[in-house]
Amino acid sequence: MLLTGMFALPGTLYAQGTNPDAVYASYPTYNGQDLELVVDNSGTKFALWSPKATAVRVNLYDTGRNTPVTRTLEMRLTPGGVWRTSVPEQLYGKFYTFQVKMGDKWLNETPGVWAKAVGTNGHRAAIIDFAATNPEGWEADHGPAINAITDAVLYEMHHRDFSVHPSSGITHKGKFLALTEPMTKSPLGDATGIDHLKELGVTHVHILPSYDYNSVDEANLPANQYNWGYDPYNYNAPEGSYSTDPANPSTRVREMKQMVKALHDAGIGVVMDVVYNHTANNDDSNFSLTAPGYYYRHREDGSYSDASGCGNETASDRQQMRDFIINSVKYWAKEYHIDGFRFDLMAIHDTETMSQVAAALKEINPNIFIYGEGWTAGDSPLPVERRALKENVAKMKGIAVFSDDIRDAVKGHYSNAADRGFATGKPGNEETVKIGIVASTAHPQVDYKKGNNSRFPYASAPTQIINYVSCHDDLTLTDKLAKSMPGTTEAQRQRAARLAQTIVFTSQGTPFMFAGEEVFRDKKGVHNSYKSPDSVNAIDWTLKHVNADQFHYYQELIKLRRAHPAFRMTTAEDIARNIVFDNEKRPNVISYSIKNNAGGDSFNEIKLVFNGQEAPIEVKIPHGDWTVIARDGQLNADGLDTTRGGKMTVPATSALILARTK
Ligand code: CA
Repeated sequence: MLLTGMFALPGTLYAQGTNPDAVYASYPTYNGQDLELVVDNSGTKFALWSPKATAVRVNLYDTGRNTPVTRTLEMRLTPGGVWRTSVPEQLYGKFYTFQVKMGDKWLNETPGVWAKAVGTNGHRAAIIDFAATNPEGWEADHGPAINAITDAVLYEMHHRDFSVHPSSGITHKGKFLALTEPMTKSPLGDATGIDHLKELGVTHVHILPSYDYNSVDEANLPANQYNWGYDPYNYNAPEGSYSTDPANPSTRVREMKQMVKALHDAGIGVVMDVVYNHTANNDDSNFSLTAPGYYYRHREDGSYSDASGCGNETASDRQQMRDFIINSVKYWAKEYHIDGFRFDLMAIHDTETMSQVAAALKEINPNIFIYGEGWTAGDSPLPVERRALKENVAKMKGIAVFSDDIRDAVKGHYSNAADRGFATGKPGNEETVKIGIVASTAHPQVDYKKGNNSRFPYASAPTQIINYVSCHDDLTLTDKLAKSMPGTTEAQRQRAARLAQTIVFTSQGTPFMFAGEEVFRDKKGVHNSYKSPDSVNAIDWTLKHVNADQFHYYQELIKLRRAHPAFRMTTAEDIARNIVFDNEKRPNVISYSIKNNAGGDSFNEIKLVFNGQEAPIEVKIPHGDWTVIARDGQLNADGLDTTRGGKMTVPATSALILARTK
């Protein structure tokens, strides 16, 4: 509440010169599970947390938009800063908004922060029967069991990228339901959709934001707008444009569950990309319209701080926001059976919140895992030591971070298109690639002082590291190689992609790939395609035929990793004991062994030689009965042939992988 004489700055409720954290810390908080809406035998109950409001009301509507209020319910303040009201009827089928009065001013309407079903464009919340949205067999549905996150093979996809191209052969293009369609094929006869995922062998799809986001106009879907969805609007309801009928609030809920069920039935888990670090709007976000100022961090002048680079940053270190994040992921895990969460700009959140997120989710399902971007996009008032940074990952139990170390070292710097990396012939990245191989854990043969991006072993276990060379952000691997290797043939660039991904998929930690890399998809050189048209973002599935050898290589690479626990060790001690680097001084060459039947592997020793030079090299392999798994850009998880070792040639831009059982 504004006190006389206080000077309010936009988005804040505290006087200039006062400490906002102290002001907000004085708010009563409420962590009950009945916020927003409960419908049961005694009727319909509304609850909204807004400790400083002077009045709050509920507006009821017959439809999701463009119709007048049919009834208004006044709410009353109860302990914990929660406003409540109820009616004896079950209001299924109706829509509602909350409206908060601050001082003597009514704020704009909001569906609240806990709307679980919404109408078109999410401006009004909906009252639906969730039990009626469950697909058949939902009670028995569950995702794949994994021993540790390092057993996962992550495939990052956007719903439209994956299915919208005419060549997908999929009926529900760009929709949740696209992933429920079996037996789809490209015009050239290759499997697409969910069958393609099964063929490739990934364990989990990581879907780009699928909560209700702001940018795509759900009332005008024929316009075929595209957005990645990093502009959150309603955190606890699915995005309408991915449903077949955004105007029916039950449809998006049911269809997202059908997608999860179809993937689970195929043995594939679902990881959701979550973006609690900022909201699409500032003063008009659902957070601001319910408890102005509270959910955000501010600069000393009262303006929104902006570690997200999107205009604001949320305040996970405040109790009600922390509880919101924890309860929200728990909700997705329970209601939608989500198997993992990827936190966008995770370092905007504090380490304590992330530890609590992991603990709460593991309690629901021990197979759930959490990873995130261990960085921010700008400075934050949150002290560095409390940020969920890559460098602080060891402080967070059950959390993994993306390794920008291996990413930039293997292919070249992410933002400098022309820059090359280890796999594309630029020397000086060897030690950083080795940091990637040992998953940023302490290893006696890895000199962190020579690391490009990190100078100390920040991970205490490989389960804390996600390895990758590209994702939806920045240039696709195909485009990066085209821009950094001018004058080369596509065949040469495909060799470079194979070498790059071989390093990723054989490294300790968890491998992650961007959808379509397995068919060498590009994005026409567009590095920030967040709102580019389908013509840039859609995967052309005829590439699976054109680049069949590339697809086959990825398939075998994934098969190799999944068949051999030596690539999936779970402790730093095992890595330090079982990985032995050879004394290799040549630039762009790394040679190492994974020994001792690591992780209980059937192979006693796996020898890996990566040649990032643009010329062949010779290596000396100890004599023995070796199976050749990879050589000269070919890979077969069961073996290409055999060798006795000795002097061997490793052709330009390729990996040699040998294995022996004794
Ligand atoms: Ca939306």
